Amino acid sequence: HLPVKRAFRPCASGAASRGLQDGVRLLRWNVVSKRCGEAAASPHHIRVLQWNVLSQALGEMNDNFACCPDEALQWSARRYQIVEEIIEYCPDIICLQEVDHFKFLSGALATQGYTGMFFPKPDSPCLYIQGNNGPDGCAIFYRTDKFDLLNSESRVLEVWSVQSNQVALLVNLRIKETGREVCVATTHLKARNGALLSTLREEQGKDLLRFVEERRQDRPLVLCGDFNAEPIEPVYKSIMTHSSGLGSAYANAHGGQEPPYTTWKVRESEGEVCHTIDYVFFSQREFAVDAVLDFPTGEEIGLGRIPSFIYPSDHFSLVCDLSFREQRGMSL
Ligand code: NDP
Ligand code: CA
Repeated sequence: HLPVKRAFRPCASGAASRGLQDGVRLLRWNVVSKRCGEAAASPHHIRVLQWNVLSQALGEMNDNFACCPDEALQWSARRYQIVEEIIEYCPDIICLQEVDHFKFLSGALATQGYTGMFFPKPDSPCLYIQGNNGPDGCAIFYRTDKFDLLNSESRVLEVWSVQSNQVALLVNLRIKETGREVCVATTHLKARNGALLSTLREEQGKDLLRFVEERRQDRPLVLCGDFNAEPIEPVYKSIMTHSSGLGSAYANAHGGQEPPYTTWKVRESEGEVCHTIDYVFFSQREFAVDAVLDFPTGEEIGLGRIPSFIYPSDHFSLVCDLSFREQRGMSL
């Protein structure tokens, strides 16, 4: 039996006359399964899951999590927890980073009605780890009963016209029932602190936006990822102020404020690291945010933080329900 972990938080606008508190109660986990059917069935809504799953090679050999028991990092246990976390929320679209077991995920998710693609980092740090399972990279999965694939594109992000070690993956999808099209893109920007690295992420963000703008061809956009940048960083600002009119789903659902954390870990070198660096950006003209999945509290997470036996990655998954504005206006 799964512990009750997290609740969906509807947007103030999405909660409408029910009020936020009622809405939160209504969307508690024990009824999320009902919404699973609803979200999957409705061609006017899209449920997106964004998650840095923590590469198996990096997590076991590189990250030096101070409080995570070795057993919790073993692939034999983690792999089922990762799949469970994903399918628990019945997303229509899944954007993942640090995937170094695409074959396993792809096989497991195929049994649940998903297909997907993977694009590795050109010089993944995983490759330098003994016993690695290949490079890590970004992956996108989508439900085959809901979408047709129009095309997929990948890019090694450039910084001042030179290729970096970070990538982006993009799919253009068509909703079978309505014929509406949507572009979904994901990325994992350069990690670590410092002014130079912040500038690097800013440049990667510019290249990412150029790439996405060119390939989406006016389709509504969902842009997810581990941007390795807190909201004060230039890359966040350039995405949020870009002419394409992107908003951040979680900020939208929290009165304009990003949540306090999307990752919370204890590393031997750095101590406790608790901050927001993962986002789901979306086209505000075309989509409204109906609900986002809340993060567990510090107490629920426990003092060892994550990863742990309950949470298999050092990042939390972000899940949000987007609805097409046109349809939403009609149905209210
Ligand atoms: P990044 O700096 O983007 O980070 C790589 C990974 O390290 C990310 O998945 C990141 O996770 C994680 N990470 C972030 N902070 C820490 C930390 N404090 N401790 C441990 N892990 C952390 O790396 P690049 O992709 O740019 O690759 C690094 C380069 O280093 C590669 O080009 C490779 O050639 C080189 N390399 C060489 C090695 C060698 O033995 N010669 C070994 C490893 C790398 P998150 O995004 O979740 O923060
Ligand atoms: Ca990591």
